[in-house]
Amino acid sequence: MDRRNIELKIFGLIAGMAAGMILLAGVALTVATRHADVRERQYEQTLVGNGLRQRGKEIQTALNPYVIWDEAIIKLDNRFDKAWASQNIGASVGGALGYKIVYVLDAADQPLYGHINGKDVAPDTYARYAAPTAPLVAAIRKIEADPKKVAALRAVHKSRVELIGDEPVLITVSLVRPDLKAKTRGAQAPLVVTGIPVAASVIKTFSDRFLLHKAHIEVVAADKVHTKAAQAILGKAADGRRITLRWTPRQPGEELLKSATPMLVAAVLAAVIGSILLFRITRRAAKKLLLSEAEAKHLSLHDPLTGLANRTLFTDRLVHAHALLRRKPGHLGVLCIDLDRFKEVNDNYGHDAGDQLIREVARRLKAICRETDTICRLGGDEFAIIQPDTNPVGAAALAQRVVEGLSGEVDLSIGRAELSCSVGVAVVSDADHGQAELLRQADVALYRAKEAGRGRFCFFEPEMDSALRLRKGLERDLRTAIENEALTVAYQPLTDARRGIVGVEALARWHHPERGDISPAIFIPLAEACGLIGQIGAAVFRRACYDSLRWSGLEVSVNVSALQLSSPGFVDEMVATLAETGARADVFMLEITETALLKDSDGVHEALRRLKRLGFRLALDDFGTGYASLAYLRRHPIDKLKIDRSFVSSLPGNSESLAVASAIVSLAKSLGLKTTAEGVETEGQFDALIKLGVTEFQGFLLGRPMPADAIAGARETVR
Ligand code: C2E
Ligand code: CA
Ligand code: CA
Repeated sequence: MDRRNIELKIFGLIAGMAAGMILLAGVALTVATRHADVRERQYEQTLVGNGLRQRGKEIQTALNPYVIWDEAIIKLDNRFDKAWASQNIGASVGGALGYKIVYVLDAADQPLYGHINGKDVAPDTYARYAAPTAPLVAAIRKIEADPKKVAALRAVHKSRVELIGDEPVLITVSLVRPDLKAKTRGAQAPLVVTGIPVAASVIKTFSDRFLLHKAHIEVVAADKVHTKAAQAILGKAADGRRITLRWTPRQPGEELLKSATPMLVAAVLAAVIGSILLFRITRRAAKKLLLSEAEAKHLSLHDPLTGLANRTLFTDRLVHAHALLRRKPGHLGVLCIDLDRFKEVNDNYGHDAGDQLIREVARRLKAICRETDTICRLGGDEFAIIQPDTNPVGAAALAQRVVEGLSGEVDLSIGRAELSCSVGVAVVSDADHGQAELLRQADVALYRAKEAGRGRFCFFEPEMDSALRLRKGLERDLRTAIENEALTVAYQPLTDARRGIVGVEALARWHHPERGDISPAIFIPLAEACGLIGQIGAAVFRRACYDSLRWSGLEVSVNVSALQLSSPGFVDEMVATLAETGARADVFMLEITETALLKDSDGVHEALRRLKRLGFRLALDDFGTGYASLAYLRRHPIDKLKIDRSFVSSLPGNSESLAVASAIVSLAKSLGLKTTAEGVETEGQFDALIKLGVTEFQGFLLGRPMPADAIAGARETVR
């Protein structure tokens, strides 16, 4: 997944979470404050309601001294005394207690006395108040009619708020009762009706007592709903409207909200900051995760040592480049690169040095190639380059740059190493062949470059392919032949000047089940190249050992490859075979080539000395074709020189060959060595060689290679 995308997702998630949390907190707070406000209003309303009832009782209680009074019974009921009423009810209740309205009703509920706003008025003015007062009067008479109830109560009052004009008035009707023993005339006692404006008395006291905010009286329609304001219903007007006490309740929720706002802001800020921090942390973690994912991906596609593409990525790119070829005509180049003698660096300096060298090679390749090229380490010291959109000239130029760039000395921490490489190039212009085929072709070309002497590049050519295929097939078959012990040995006679057989040369023979006889000139180099020569040499020697036991007085020549000679266990193996077969070392002439001496390593020298001490004699094969100098001949314990067939074949006519042959013979004579002339096919050659002083002769003229069984017969015929 793309990093930007992941970051966006994480950010969205965290931001969403934070927003959600803030929203939730906000909703919770709002609900809580709203709830608190409602609770407070209800609480205040209950409180005010109770308070009002209490206040009503107070007002009623204040009236008690005037209405629970024997004298009042006497003066108002037994015999109405208007002066007394004016003085003791009107002046006292209306004046001292502050009642605006004061009336006295007789036992039949008829007004006897009236007092309004501090002045006595005609009793009939009561008509104005009769209607609102009537229910209260009725209620009192009902109580009065129940002796049990009356006995239980000391004072009997009934109050209500009513609109008088537009003014809400608290009207109280009180039953006049004796405080001691006075008795009414009839069953019903007189009543005192008082009225006091609510606003003046009730509200004033209330607001002060309950600290009500903006308290006021409001007359409202019954269905009018106030949301914010608190209300206490004082009474119901005749028209159905409600007389209410209204005030603005405290709003603790809102206050809380107000006082909590700074904290709330702080919390939101903290949440935002926290979210940002969280986002950063997660982003960093995600980045790391992505990095490690990228790392893992990189690792899976790159060589850890060099950082170059590995085989997987290489194949991937090759497939891609190859597919592109179908759409866009052009050329696609693949270079296979192999370091020459890398194994030696590894063996001599160690793996660390090897790694250093590989890294250096990678560095140089990066410098040589273009951005669009893919450089890959296929493994070990093998590299490859994909060169897209090129042509044979471009591929050759790159190959040349690689060969030049990867040559010369390289400084390693442990010393200097000589660097050189071989490059195989394959270029295709169409997508007919698969991409794997392209790599294979480059590999075949590389093989050829190495064969051609390393430090160079080679283009793939179709012939190489068939040759290589043949070679690979032969190699496989040769292995099988060795395992099945299908190789045989033929012996070719060596004679003296009188054609008497003095020795034989053991020659390996391979009869291929399909291809027939295959020449050692083909399968011996092949065996040397693929590491099979040791096994072949050992098999031929063992066979020769057994066969030598059949012949007395014959020198048996056995070819020994340079590779065998430099392999560590070679001499011991020879000794073991001698012991195993019971053959004698001094019967054998080991034929070695000049190239074996060229190595001139202590190992080869030591091996030759040991063989010599064991009784083996040594011949230098194909003499004259190589570099062998007198110095070599002096240094090594050689017994015989074999003059190469190439000099013999042009005899007797070719004077140059004659000169060489003559020189070799005289050299051998001066060193006390025997000489054998190879490939003697004609009498003319034979004669010429005898005249030169050659001591031994080998060739078709004197005898073809033959089975061991035929040697005895050949000896007979010659004699
Ligand atoms: P070489 O050691 O020089 O062997 C002599 C080669 O010359 C043999 O070829 C032989 O058949 C051939 N020859 C002999 N007389 C004549 C002649 O008059 N005219 C011509 N044209 N050729 C003649 P061959 O058997 O094909 O062996 C080829 C090479 O293979 C040998 O050359 C030798 O270097 C190598 N070889 C054969 N057997 C072995 C072996 O067991 N071990 C090793 N290391 N090399 C072997
Ligand atoms: Ca030979
Ligand atoms: Ca030879």
